[in-house]
Amino acid sequence: MSSVERDAAPTSKDSSTLLTALLLLCFMLSVGVALEPMIPYSASSSHHDRTLKSSSRGDSPNISDTRTHRPSVSADSPSSLRNAGSETLILPTSSRVFSGDRENGLVYGRRNPNSPSIDYGESHPFEIMERRRHQRRRHLREWHDGFHDYWYDKSFNVNNFLNKSWYDADDDYDPTTMYDIDVNAAEAQDKFDLKHFRPIRIKVDTRFLDQSSSQEKKDEFFEYHVLPAAVQFWTKALMVYPAKRLFVSDNDCGLGNPSHRANGINDADLMLYVSANRYCDSSNTGGTLASAYSCDWDQYDRPIGGEIDFCYDEFFLDANGNADSNIKRIMIEVAIHEIGHVLGVDSGDMAFYYDRATGLPRTPHPLNKSDDAECVNGIMLSQMNSNDFRPSPSTLKYSGIYPGIKFYEVVTPTVQRIAQNHFNCSSMSGMRLENQPSAGSCFGDHWEERTAWDSSMSGISSSLLHIPEHISPFTLALLEDSGWYRANYKMSKGFTFGRGAGCDFLEKPCIVDGMVPDYAAPYFCNNTKKEDADVRCDPTHHMMATCDLYDLSKEENVRSYPPVPQVYRYFPNPAFGPKHNKADYCPIYSETIMGCHSEYNSKTFPEESFNNTSRCYNSNYRPFCFETSCSKEDNAIIVKVGDKFEKCEYDFQKIRAPFAGESIYFECPRKAAICPELVCPSSCSGKGTCDWKNETPTCVCDGGVTSEDCLVFDKTFSRYGTATGDHLDADLQNVPGNSSSPPRINSEVGVTLLFIFVSYLALFKSIS
Ligand SMILES: [Zn+2]
Repeated sequence: MSSVERDAAPTSKDSSTLLTALLLLCFMLSVGVALEPMIPYSASSSHHDRTLKSSSRGDSPNISDTRTHRPSVSADSPSSLRNAGSETLILPTSSRVFSGDRENGLVYGRRNPNSPSIDYGESHPFEIMERRRHQRRRHLREWHDGFHDYWYDKSFNVNNFLNKSWYDADDDYDPTTMYDIDVNAAEAQDKFDLKHFRPIRIKVDTRFLDQSSSQEKKDEFFEYHVLPAAVQFWTKALMVYPAKRLFVSDNDCGLGNPSHRANGINDADLMLYVSANRYCDSSNTGGTLASAYSCDWDQYDRPIGGEIDFCYDEFFLDANGNADSNIKRIMIEVAIHEIGHVLGVDSGDMAFYYDRATGLPRTPHPLNKSDDAECVNGIMLSQMNSNDFRPSPSTLKYSGIYPGIKFYEVVTPTVQRIAQNHFNCSSMSGMRLENQPSAGSCFGDHWEERTAWDSSMSGISSSLLHIPEHISPFTLALLEDSGWYRANYKMSKGFTFGRGAGCDFLEKPCIVDGMVPDYAAPYFCNNTKKEDADVRCDPTHHMMATCDLYDLSKEENVRSYPPVPQVYRYFPNPAFGPKHNKADYCPIYSETIMGCHSEYNSKTFPEESFNNTSRCYNSNYRPFCFETSCSKEDNAIIVKVGDKFEKCEYDFQKIRAPFAGESIYFECPRKAAICPELVCPSSCSGKGTCDWKNETPTCVCDGGVTSEDCLVFDKTFSRYGTATGDHLDADLQNVPGNSSSPPRINSEVGVTLLFIFVSYLALFKSIS
């Protein structure tokens, strides 16, 4: 605007023409602003004149190959009980680093310029936004030219100029398609998305599952039980702008199918090529569970093809080729986790995220390899064997808490908001990534274990706890902030770690001088004893557990535990530390004694229950498992103790448990930990603020939204039969309040029990 004014600075004109000119200026600016309420002038990018038609990719002629690829796949190792330092990362055998990238170091986008653009029809939101920018640039140019003519030619006729229909010159542009200019831009955008976005359609190609392994039963189990459930989960959780036809390149996806490139794929938004045992640790000691990466992308860098490899030796089936529901859950959870990486939960994707509000990359393009960054391990990005680019500081920020503990933090708007709502900490700037990542990752590819312990997208699979609905709201928020998806936050309601815990929980040490401060009490522990008396509920109240804290110098395999780094020393004895160190060496009640939802546990007291809806309650005797439901009417946790129902009406309420002894009482947990739906459901879906000061914290939704969880996309998800957080299978159901039929007991209990015991032992050894 200022340059326009300077160019137009009059020298000597009569006042009436000057007035006309000023009126014209005002008129044009007001029209421009009204048409484009969200686009600041500066956004008309000169450095990045990206038009959205594929042919225009030629505007980066120096780029021989604009693709980039992560050379290090997200390999997910069951790291918990594994020996520290023995982490094995298996890289794909084929080098996926494209020389063109390295030579010039500039990347405009990930799609191979030789691949055809994905057909989205006429109204992909990013394309509409680009047209609007284009139109605005032309308006300004015409205005400038017209003004120039007026001053220097005098032949300029204002009426002719105004009559010129410059505002509808773009025939295919209809401003009402996208924004009703009278309403708030964000609301208008929601309306557009509601109209056009659809639940994501994921197709799975399992040809390489069959070819790569002789284990047919596992092939079948993955193909017919695990993958469909994981795909169903994401279809219920995410929407995309649907592709008319998907073309996935078999050059870019090594396991691809030539016909997927040539003829395309119908009714799909993402194609997954699944294999087994390709990138696994052959000696079967490092325990990689699976690995995944995206291999092809649309013209907006959204992943449209991905490869997932499962390590069969880490998964156990019985002789009939079946798995107990808990084992099945773990397998599904691993598949959900891997698909999550393909969808974009990966720091290698973050530089390619788009801003939903502008339709422009969040990190200005071209990405520049020389834009270096310090990795969490202290090495520079340029020195890592990595093809990642540094995301913009408005996406990923280098941060720290108390001295010495550094990490990268996702600071995109929805992630930040959801995190503030979840933890009850309004000063929180974002969500931390794991700062002890697997080798090869610069920024971290998972949520930090200390703040997202039971999240499905944290780096460690916590076995029994890891049920699909433990995908965290941060994960969904991150995927929304990629610009490619809209999320159904009802699918994240099971995640409760740290809910309502406050800023101190995040910002202060988990243990101070060997003691557990109040803010850390329900989550962290300082107890090295493993006897009955020291069994407590885990932080999610799904199981009874002991504290993961040891004098590591006395452990048999002491060499597996290197000294606790100085910044993570919380105990006077420097040898004190947990075996699972990714939660910044904070000890957690995480060593399972028994799960409350395991049907195989024997009851000591008939008043206890062990089923899908049971939760763990601490007491002054030992923890109990009781059937639990959540009552909105009573605003309380309803606890079934034998035939009686007790009400937990406030956090940490004490309730007598006379069946176990006259002076025995059990303690109610935080309501938010067991009944997330009673306290700011879905952390207000990124569209509202949780008012934690309220006696019953409730969501204050952004204008125009009235639902209790502020979710605006319910209707689309329900219209397409993927509604509202319903669970996947009866045997995956794990939220109290949905009274389900009792779990099926396998008729071969003896055998099954033995099998499960052995399996659990193995899984806890390798996953936990
Ligand atoms: Zn992972």
